Amino acid sequence: MMGTSIWHPFTQHGLREPIPEIVRAEGAALYTKEGQRIIDGISSWWVNTHGHCHPRIAAAIAQQASQLDQMIFAGWTHGPAQELAHGLRPIMPPDLTRVFFSDSGSTAVEVALKMALGYWRSRKGEARHRIVVMEHSYHGDTIGAMSVGARGVFNQAYEPLLFNTITIPFPAPGREQATLDALEAASHDAAAFIVEPLILGAGGMLVYPPAVLAEMREICARHGVLFIADEVMTGWGRTGTLLACEQANVTPDILCLSKGLTGGSVPLAVTMAIEPVYQAHYSKDRADMFFHSSSYTANPIACAAANANLAIWAEEPVMQRIDTLARKQQAFVDSLRSVPTVENARRCGTIAAFDIKVPFGQRGYMAGLAPALLAYYRERGLLLRPLGNTVYAMPPYCIATADLAALHEGLVQSVDEAV
Ligand SMILES: *Cc1c(COP(=O)(O)O)cnc(C)c1O
Repeated sequence: MMGTSIWHPFTQHGLREPIPEIVRAEGAALYTKEGQRIIDGISSWWVNTHGHCHPRIAAAIAQQASQLDQMIFAGWTHGPAQELAHGLRPIMPPDLTRVFFSDSGSTAVEVALKMALGYWRSRKGEARHRIVVMEHSYHGDTIGAMSVGARGVFNQAYEPLLFNTITIPFPAPGREQATLDALEAASHDAAAFIVEPLILGAGGMLVYPPAVLAEMREICARHGVLFIADEVMTGWGRTGTLLACEQANVTPDILCLSKGLTGGSVPLAVTMAIEPVYQAHYSKDRADMFFHSSSYTANPIACAAANANLAIWAEEPVMQRIDTLARKQQAFVDSLRSVPTVENARRCGTIAAFDIKVPFGQRGYMAGLAPALLAYYRERGLLLRPLGNTVYAMPPYCIATADLAALHEGLVQSVDEAV
């Protein structure tokens, strides 16, 4: 059998669940080998923004691939990376003067953490190293990124390798002050606070208000704690604005971007930093340089894809598509208020989520519901992936009205099937 040696991510092969083969994609749809059309309800795990195989991005990749494919980025440079850094500056917060390239959300986070520690190391006699994190956070699956994320069944086996952090509670409605108090208390000797702005993705699409984000930023500023915004999922319009931080008027000290950076076509990430973080690594001493690279840092083909993404943002009505999608998602969320098996229906920008009411013991990621739901969606040609008893729709911005309606209908009907 072809493909039987592949070890898939986040997949329990022992359950022998079907693994459909996709042969092509277009817009908000994927097509299986058998010709079934699948509606991409989760933007292929939160990466796709303008739809699959956007002609402009595909053309940029093809063009770049035949001109300059890959080259070392330590001590050398190339046009696509320069163009991208130049293009990011005016659309990102002006204080973020420096652009460091890597190749995934996890590495963007690792880079951010290393920058923060490097910054504090340069402040002689004040070497802070503690990282403050938010309950239920997710920042990636490498060891450092797991360390600053929530602990659970996914990382239990690796617990001995994870470093200690200070966790502040999630600002659930009515408990915001506890979050702010905990951050204040942790801030006196912390190096950095890392957070997903406005919505915690893998933690269950948990939403909190911009005002809390703004207050957390204030507290960090007051204590000199570096504020790291992990916008790997929230960036590129997902929450209704280019960055989620915009909605709180927040400029982070360090910003992580990936997923939608190339429109979701090829892997690339950037970590942007304020000037003092860069200056902390700037001297005549080689020992002070920023010690990080990966082989494919600033891959020219990926940079070309990102430049095409920026051109799409500049020239196509992307914000209009986002507003339209957000409005339809809100109407869906409103319609859920009358469904008795559903609770906590919520929306953040283009993301709509709700929880299926289940007995308390069955909550969380391993909730028994997920396999039945997955099978149900697969049969109906919907790419959706529950987070425990939380289900959500996060489609590409170009999704057609009929496809979105099919997603919504599938989500609601799956609840009846599952409960
Ligand atoms: C997906 C994600 C990451 C990790 O990105 P990868 O490219 O999968 O390594 C980090 N942070 C957040 C908020 C994410 O959603």
